Parts: sequence; structure tokens; C-alpha cells
Amino acid sequence: MRFNPSLASRLRIGFLVLFALLLLVSLLGVGRLFQVRVNYEDDITRFFQLELESERLRSAFILEQAAARPPTGQKLPSQTEINRAAANFGQAVDRAQDLSGGDATLNAELSQLVAAESAWRAKVAQPLVGGTIPSPAVESRLTRQVTDSGAALATTTRNARDDSRDDARTETRNTTILVAAGLAGALLAALILFSGLINSMRAPLGRLVEGARRLAGGDLRTRVEVGGPVEIATLGRAFNEMANSLERDARERDRVERMKDDFVLTVSHELRTPVTVVKGFAEMLTAQRQSLNARQYEAAEVIAESSAQLQKMINDLLDLARSDAGKLRIEPKPEAVRPLVQRVGRQMGPHFEEKGQRFSVSVEKDLPEVEADADRVSQVLANLLTNANKYAPEGAEVKLAATRVGEEIEFAVSDNGPGLGEEELDHVFDRFWRAQSGETQEVGGTGLGLAIAKSLVDLHGGAISANSTQGEGATFRFVLPIAKDGRPTRTDTASRTRAGAPT
Ligand code: ADP
Repeated sequence: MRFNPSLASRLRIGFLVLFALLLLVSLLGVGRLFQVRVNYEDDITRFFQLELESERLRSAFILEQAAARPPTGQKLPSQTEINRAAANFGQAVDRAQDLSGGDATLNAELSQLVAAESAWRAKVAQPLVGGTIPSPAVESRLTRQVTDSGAALATTTRNARDDSRDDARTETRNTTILVAAGLAGALLAALILFSGLINSMRAPLGRLVEGARRLAGGDLRTRVEVGGPVEIATLGRAFNEMANSLERDARERDRVERMKDDFVLTVSHELRTPVTVVKGFAEMLTAQRQSLNARQYEAAEVIAESSAQLQKMINDLLDLARSDAGKLRIEPKPEAVRPLVQRVGRQMGPHFEEKGQRFSVSVEKDLPEVEADADRVSQVLANLLTNANKYAPEGAEVKLAATRVGEEIEFAVSDNGPGLGEEELDHVFDRFWRAQSGETQEVGGTGLGLAIAKSLVDLHGGAISANSTQGEGATFRFVLPIAKDGRPTRTDTASRTRAGAPT
């Protein structure tokens, strides 16, 4: 099994390793400094004692000299006195040997002193005890040898003490440098450890952020590679599960949507024939007014009107269902704008007259042909004009205009009716949306007309928009592409689906 500790464990391990390293370095450093100090103090004490002993050796030799030459010239030196002084000297030598602690130079100096003292005793003191006076030259040479050796021992001891102090200083400095280097090393190790820890989290976290961004952007197939510390790996797994469930839901939603579209399509289709039949017969009845009494005629008229409304609604629903299923087709080809606009104007004219509204049509001169399905564009214009006619009051003014805007033709329907509020404008192209105002509610409608108009304009590769100031009227505009050289912009004259793909 792969070792993959949790974030908390990683931090704990990191801190423990760092703590252990710092502790080790500090303990070693402090221990070493303590040892250096102790050694230094021992050495200093020993060398002071050794200096003391070398002073004692000098005094012992002076005592030996005094014993070898008693103050009264006639009296011979006492062997016992000389032996006692020599024993003192010997004891001082023993103590000095103990204190020299195996130092070769000191031991050599000491041996030389002992040898000089022995030579002096044999050649100067002993002859004096026997009553023989040694030659002054011999005595002075041997005596100088002893005192010189003593002085050399004292000097070497002092030097050894100075050396010991220098050594202690050097060792203290080196140990301090080593400890500082050790601490810096431990901190560096900690830094590497923690940056490794952060790096181990960075990549999987980055993948999660990127994945979340893609998912939010709508790519439901996004999955992330699970990795990193346990907590982040768990997060990665949870993210993938969430994406799975979102994708499942979206698939299910699409399926239900498709079912709904199919249902609406089928039902609308099936309703169309009987409604057409009912409408046909009702119209036939109203045409035979003379054979009907007043009540029968009124009933026939209501049936004809209602079935006409129903037929429009079914056609609208059918268009929308087709649009959703990608089956709404248009047959765009180069169309002259003026006759198209004037035809719709003519058809709608009577409705405006009926309501006492002023209606004008204006088409810019020399407009190029538009790339459009004339029937569908007429449907859109008729819808916008019907709305203006429906929602604007009697005596209002309605204008239909066609102009060129860049590489497009703009169609605009404006009225000075009640208009729409800013919030209402955001929903005006939504399906089944109708304004809540009294004027709108008084007028019949389904809230489907503008949604279909938008689908049709989109299919043409155009765009539709609405502008309005509440109480001052509304303007609906849509643009369509100009036909290239009077020929269709698409080489394929076949219809286009909503997705814009040739079929
Ligand atoms: P319908 O007219 O059948 O209700 P539409 O989709 O054509 O459906 O219009 C949606 C809503 O937009 C209408 O119910 C109405 O509230 C508002 N509307 C559309 N055209 C106008 C207009 N010219 N002036 C004021 N309100 C309008």
C-alpha cells in the first residue's frame, strides 16, 4: 500500500523532524561548548599548579645549596640536611610529573632538571660533604644548568598555559560556527520539508480549481485526477462524484426535455387537423348568415374566433417545439426588402384602421436584398405589428421601418403605446411571459409570439432586441444579413436548422 499520510500527519511529521534536528544540533553544540570550557578550566588549574611546583623546585634547590654550604665555613655540610633537601626536591618533581599530564615537552624539561640536579648533587654537594671543595668552574656550570632547567620548565609551563587558552578559544569559535551551520542546515531542511509539503498540495489543488472552473463553465464531463494528501484526495473524489451526479442529472433533464418537446410536437400536430376542421365549418356557418337565426350566428362567430385563436396557439406551439427539437426550418434566399415590408403593411393596415391608429411604413431607398425566408420574416413582422396594434391604445401611432445598418438590414416596429419597464424588457422574449399590467391582461395572448420571433431571427443569423420607456411606447428591432451579390450568403440554398448547420 502506498504511504500517503494526511495533511495533519504530514505537518506533525514535519514539525517533529524539525524539532529533533534543532534539539540534536543544540544539544551537541551546548555539550561540546561545555566540554571545551571544562577542559580549559582543568588545564588552566593544572598549569598554575605546575608553575607553583616549578617555584617549589627552585626553592628546594636553593635549600639544597644552603645545606651544601653551611654558614660557618669550618663546619662540614650535613649529609642528613642534604638528603632532606634532596627528598623535598624529589617530592616536588613527583608532583610536577603528575601535573604535566603526559605532556612530552614538559616531561623532557622536567627530566633535564632532574638530571641537572642529580649531576649538581653528585659533583658539588657530595664532594662538599666529604670535605672536598669542587672547582668553582664546575660548581658554577652545574648550578647554572639546574637554574636554567628550572627557568626553562617555568617558561614551558607558561607557554603551555597560553596554548591551552588559545586552543580553548579556537575550539569555542569552531564549535559556535558548527552549531550555527547546523541550525542553518536544520532550518534549510525544514524549509525544504515545508515547501515539499506545499508542493504536494499545490498541483492537486490547482487541478481542483481548474476543474471547478470548467464545471461552472458548463463542461459536465470534467473530472479531476485524484492525488495529494488524504484530505485533498478526498476532496478530489468528492468533486468527481459531484460531477458524475451533475452529468447524470443533466442527461436525465435532457431526456425529459426531449420527451416534453416530442409530446408538445405530437399533441400540437394532432390538434391541428381537428381545429382546422372546426374553424372551417364555423367559417362556413358564418358565411351562411341568412340561414341562421341571431343566436346561431353569434355562436358560429364565437366558434370561428376561438378556433382561429386556438389554431394560432397550436401553430405557435408547433413552431416552438420544432425550434427546440432543431426541426424548425427556414429557407433563406435573397429577398427584396420593399415588397416584403409593404406586403406585411398592407395585410396589417385594416387592423390599425379598425382601432383608429395611425400606421406608416417607410423603407430606405436602394436597400440591398436581404438573405431571408420571406414567409418567416413576414411572420415576425406581423407578430410585432400585431403586438403594437394590440397594446397601443386607440389613436396611437405605429411605424414600420426598414433601413440599412452596416452589413445588415434593420427592421423596426415602434409605437407610442404603454411601453415596458426596464425589468419587463429582460423577460419580453421569454416563453409564456406576459406583462402584469392591466392593459396587457385586458388583451388576449399567450406570451409565445416574441419567443418564436426570436427563434426565427436567430435561425437567420440575425438578432432581435426591444427598447422602451414605460408610458412612452416601445420599439422592437431585428437585423438580418444582407444577401451577398444578390445571391444567398450560403452556397447551399437548403434550409438552416436552429444550430445553423446546413441540412
Ligand atoms: P402575447 O402578445 O401573445 O402576450 P408576445 O410574446 O407577443 O405574447 O408578447 C409578450 C408580452 O410582451 C406581451 O404580453 C406584452 O405584455 C408585452 N409586449 C409585447 N409587445 C408590446 C408592445 N408593443 N407594447 C407593450 N407591451 C408589449
